[in-house]
Amino acid sequence: MQNVFSKGDLLLDAEKYKKLFQISEKFYSTLEVDNLLAEIFITLKEIYPSYSYYLLLSLDSYNHNDLPIIDLEYDSENMMVINAYESGQIQFESSEVSNHAILYAPLKGKSAIYGVMQVIVPEVTEFPAVEAEFIGLLSNSAGAALENAKIHQQAQRTISDLQLINKTSHQLNSNQPLVETLTFMSGQIKDSFEAQEVGFFLFSKDQLKAKVIPGSTSFFYTQQARIYIDYIKGKFQQSNEPLFIGDLEIPKQPHTVFHSIMAVPVVISKKLKGFSIIMHQDPYFFPFEAFKLLQSLVHHSSLALTNALLRDELEKLVITDHLTKLHSRKFLDEKIQQSMNIDQEGTFILIDIDNFKEINDTYGHQIGDMILVQVANLIKGSIRESDIGARWGGEELAIYLPRVPLETGVAIAQRILNKVSECSDPHITVSCGVSCWKKEWNDTYQYLFKRADEALYRAKETGKNKVVIQEDTSLASYQNII
Ligand code: GH3
Ligand code: MG
Ligand code: MG
Repeated sequence: MQNVFSKGDLLLDAEKYKKLFQISEKFYSTLEVDNLLAEIFITLKEIYPSYSYYLLLSLDSYNHNDLPIIDLEYDSENMMVINAYESGQIQFESSEVSNHAILYAPLKGKSAIYGVMQVIVPEVTEFPAVEAEFIGLLSNSAGAALENAKIHQQAQRTISDLQLINKTSHQLNSNQPLVETLTFMSGQIKDSFEAQEVGFFLFSKDQLKAKVIPGSTSFFYTQQARIYIDYIKGKFQQSNEPLFIGDLEIPKQPHTVFHSIMAVPVVISKKLKGFSIIMHQDPYFFPFEAFKLLQSLVHHSSLALTNALLRDELEKLVITDHLTKLHSRKFLDEKIQQSMNIDQEGTFILIDIDNFKEINDTYGHQIGDMILVQVANLIKGSIRESDIGARWGGEELAIYLPRVPLETGVAIAQRILNKVSECSDPHITVSCGVSCWKKEWNDTYQYLFKRADEALYRAKETGKNKVVIQEDTSLASYQNII
């Protein structure tokens, strides 16, 4: 083991310098780390076909296919490698017994040493000095090019990370329905991280249950997903630390399919609101950069996500429909449930505008909206204070008449139908389905609605602009009243 040449002791001839210059140019023009590494090996093989070489790279997470690249480990038994890496100086090792000489040249950039190039010359006892110098210069050139390529790669990654965060923030702030936003986020995460499953979860108020939110991949709605969700949920109940797991093993679950997991809690105003889980079946699939990016993404999204959640919740809480000023579906649902608990009977009317699509297509959506408001106003003018007129959804409206028998309900429906046909402008008609309940039937709200819906369907089927009454042969008592 010895240093065969000292600084300034240049042994290279002009031809070799020329070659070195060409190689350096080539190295520098290669901006992809993997291609550069391949290029280094091709060059070495070309110049020294009988030598063997390895690259020992530190902190490396690239895909090298079949290149002789080894992870440089600090606890390596090979002190020469560590010496070259730490000192930045070429190290030599020769052994008469094994009959070869080895050189370790650091891959040095301006700001760091990225690894060590190991070159083995067979059947000599000392490393040839000229070649050592050449390889030393070559390794410097390779180190600088590697630094260049790494910086380039890092910059590219930063740009695409920022683009992802930017796109997601835009989407989150665009006031779109929450489901659409989450579906978008889930798609972005799947693409960027090559994840197989992406899930979003919301904690219940007591933080005991975690509900899957729409936008999550369908796997999370299956029974098999439960073990992962429960495991992560349990972890977050103990601590708000994000989780980066490369080889997941769940106690008492021998058949874990997904091994790589990244999970980030959604914390707002120091309160744990939910979390997201990203999974892949292969162990150690996600690089650490992906974990950092995910955290940043979830962090950026938390506030907008909560706003969207609140907005959705608020929309559900609102008891008046914005356009028609009729009651909301939620309000109607509650009032019917209440009435069915305390009253003796009641009648339900479903109203659907006939050929409304045509109206929209002919006059445009704004006129369509105006028609809806006209019908809503006619309804309001035809019912009493204690009755509930509601927007059931889209162009379907509904009326609930507590303590009103079917016959009266039918008459009201017919009255509304006539008024619509007489007063609407542009002219439209409506169809109605009517159902009723009586205490002794042991009826349910869902069934009450279903009967009205079926009646409405028959009104449409048989020519529209008419009132059709529930038909239910399974309930004998209906036969008596209809
Ligand atoms: P049918 O007689 O069978 O009910 O025909 P239709 O065209 O009314 O039925 P369909 O359910 O196919 O179409 C309903 C249309 O109502 C589609 C949608 O564009 C329109 N619509 C739903 N909600 C609104 C709304 O709030 N405003 C407007 N302008 N149109 C709406
Ligand atoms: Mg409809
Ligand atoms: Mg319609």
